[in-house]
Amino acid sequence: MNFNDFSLQPHIVDVVRQCGFVKPTPIQEQSIPAILTGRDLLGLAQTGTGKTAAFLLPIADRLLAGRASRVRTLILAPTRELAEQIHAFAETITRGTHLRSLAVYGGVSKPGQVKKLRQGVDIIVACPGRLLDILRDGDVNLGSIEHLVLDEADHMFDQGFLPDVRRILGHLPQKRQTLVFSATMPAEIRKLAEEILHKPATVQIDRIRPADTVEHGRYTIPQEQKTSLLLDLLRRHGYASTLIFTRTKHRAKSLAAKLAREGYTATSLQGNLSQAKRQQALDGFKKGQFTVLVATDIAARGIDVDGISHVINFDVPDTAEAYIHRTGRTGRACRSGAALTFVTPADAKIIQAIQRTLAKNMKHLTHTLEDKGHRPQETAGITAERRKNATGKAERKQSQPRRQNRSRTKTIFGLTA
Ligand code: AMP
Repeated sequence: MNFNDFSLQPHIVDVVRQCGFVKPTPIQEQSIPAILTGRDLLGLAQTGTGKTAAFLLPIADRLLAGRASRVRTLILAPTRELAEQIHAFAETITRGTHLRSLAVYGGVSKPGQVKKLRQGVDIIVACPGRLLDILRDGDVNLGSIEHLVLDEADHMFDQGFLPDVRRILGHLPQKRQTLVFSATMPAEIRKLAEEILHKPATVQIDRIRPADTVEHGRYTIPQEQKTSLLLDLLRRHGYASTLIFTRTKHRAKSLAAKLAREGYTATSLQGNLSQAKRQQALDGFKKGQFTVLVATDIAARGIDVDGISHVINFDVPDTAEAYIHRTGRTGRACRSGAALTFVTPADAKIIQAIQRTLAKNMKHLTHTLEDKGHRPQETAGITAERRKNATGKAERKQSQPRRQNRSRTKTIFGLTA
């Protein structure tokens, strides 16, 4: 199947070509025809499957068919980053057409958003809080919405946005097309979906499994050695583009600063930053100005950066779902990637849950720590003696399986010395 088979308008087919999409991803194959017929849809899909294009391409196709100076499509997303990303793709699709898209979220000037709304937009991509705020002020009318998309509905719920979502629903016409996308289906989302979807088509892609293109490995290491391990791995293998997750905002910030001091182009993406700084970090990472981005879960949700080679869980996430989301940042749309997790003995339980969700064990990886204090360019000439000196007994013991798995490990993760 290719994109010509959908009978999309020539403009949309051109956009697809410009984006370099050769063939539709499975979720696109299944969703685009259903959305084009006007049906409601429940998409059970994780990020990285191409779901943004799966809903935006057919919606834009429908919007192009008509002309109206009112808001016709509302897309709700749980984070600013995801909203910005969907909006960016909407802008790509609508470039050169009469259609306008606007991102609406907090942390940036409201009057600026209101001004653009007054100038007329066709698509709003919003986080619930700011949109409600603007609705309460009477600065937008959603009475003409034809398409509603709830993206990452499970995270909407996780973050306590469902009451806001329900309030927003009260401002929309009953007659509309509704699309709900969610990676998982907690009871609350199932209930909401049943309430708001009318005879939906259901598309289920790898419901709770991560993309097959991601290899998963773990290091068991005491908390205090994590930074040394990270530095060693980066130094030895120079991963092209690395996204690191920490549990806390503070750790994201201090780890990024440490990496920067060690000579890496690293920055952090975490909730203590202003929206402008968050965007700067993300844009810099996208453009390759930063090769390492250290982020917390909330800040990084839904971020779409091409070619992330490695996701490193510096801290194990709290839930298996969060693990799937984090690692879905690499191996996107059929490219391959690696996910590495630093595991402390205290993490045993959650690791079991993650492995159950993955339906396989993460590869057990070992690493012998090098001497500390070498900057990236100083990797050559580290003697075996120095390495040995820096190595504790436990690590020597752990290094046994490494020899057995050596060639396999090397090809997948590039992790052996
Ligand atoms: P999403 O799941 O929407 O976050 O998309 C993940 C990534 O897949 C984005 O970088 C898209 O640009 C890319 N993508 C979407 N559709 C395709 C396709 N048909 N072929 C190749 N890449 C795609």
